[in-house]
Amino acid sequence: MENVADYREIVDIIKAKGGDAFKLCYQCGKCDAVCPWNRVRSFSMRKIVREAAFGLTEIESEDIWRCTTCGRCPQQCPRDVRQIDSGVALRRVATEYGVFPKAAKAIRTVSASLAGHGNPLNEERQKRANWAEGLAVNTFAEGMEILYFPGCYLSYDPRLKKVARATANILNRAGVEFGILGTVENCCGESIRKTGDEELFKRLARENIKAFIDNGVKRILVSSPHCYHTFKNEYPEFMVKFDVVHIAQYLYELIASGRIALARAYDKRVTYHDPCYLGRHNGIYDEPREALKKLAGLTLAEMPDSRADSLCCGGGGGRIWMETIKGERFSDIRLEQAIGVGAEVLVTSCPYCIANFEDSRLTLNVSDQIEVKDITEVINDVI
Ligand code: SF4
Repeated sequence: MENVADYREIVDIIKAKGGDAFKLCYQCGKCDAVCPWNRVRSFSMRKIVREAAFGLTEIESEDIWRCTTCGRCPQQCPRDVRQIDSGVALRRVATEYGVFPKAAKAIRTVSASLAGHGNPLNEERQKRANWAEGLAVNTFAEGMEILYFPGCYLSYDPRLKKVARATANILNRAGVEFGILGTVENCCGESIRKTGDEELFKRLARENIKAFIDNGVKRILVSSPHCYHTFKNEYPEFMVKFDVVHIAQYLYELIASGRIALARAYDKRVTYHDPCYLGRHNGIYDEPREALKKLAGLTLAEMPDSRADSLCCGGGGGRIWMETIKGERFSDIRLEQAIGVGAEVLVTSCPYCIANFEDSRLTLNVSDQIEVKDITEVINDVI
């Protein structure tokens, strides 16, 4: 009887952390049929759900850290188990106890960096706006048309800084009056929230919200679908609402309204990868494709697993900070799919996807076969 009481206590702890939907599961297994992990190894969301419902979760297990929050299984679940929220509830328990398996140990360093510097990369806050050196980029001032929020990876990562610079160039060419928050900008907090660190998420969010309000920000342009998702769908939990636009949408807006002219052709066969947090989580599939289709010379090929069925790159849910062993990387499969449809360029619109695809490009040794580009870089090449 004592053990039964223990299990009930664990069920109650999980429930208190937001995992009250596990009990709805009737074990149909539809989640496992679509989970990308099952393309690379054996993994069962159904099993995780069952164990949680009975208080049998082993919080030290790596399995509760595998979910990339790609959003494929909630689409299929007939019982609304809300696998992402429920899975995050398990991570909240683990985070509270400070229990991280080997693969998730980096979360500690990431959390310390976010708390100390406002970014997960252990970079100095003072260097946050260095990506804009030599460009006409001003600090945001009230009355400007839009705030550009590049986010952490575009601010610091050498490969992704190129995307931030391409964005600024396009905005300037289009005559958009924009500014940045520079050293006041913080990580949006989306991914750390998915690792279960709710307090740190709230702190980052509150600091960003204060900066937006203090500076009179109304409209925010983001490059990351993760920033987009959290500003649009999660910051309203703090009783604020900003007009948020992702660069893939904004580029389409700029092209369609004639604010930027496409001066050159792009004579390449390209394929577009839908990032989970832009596509599945927020329904933005058409604008990036429509923007690309406006380029003379460009041929757009579709990969298997596109739009709502898009294959996750593996970077969501905090997995971008965890090591995924060779042979288990979804981004490898995606790159092979892109090459398989004859694409010379794999285009996407998310820093995590680009980071993972660039890694796969190197490790698969296919750099001479395919390029990986953000949609911003493609448009910047033709204006
Ligand atoms: Fe349970 Fe939903 Fe998965 Fe079916 S799809 S096994 S109901 S979590």
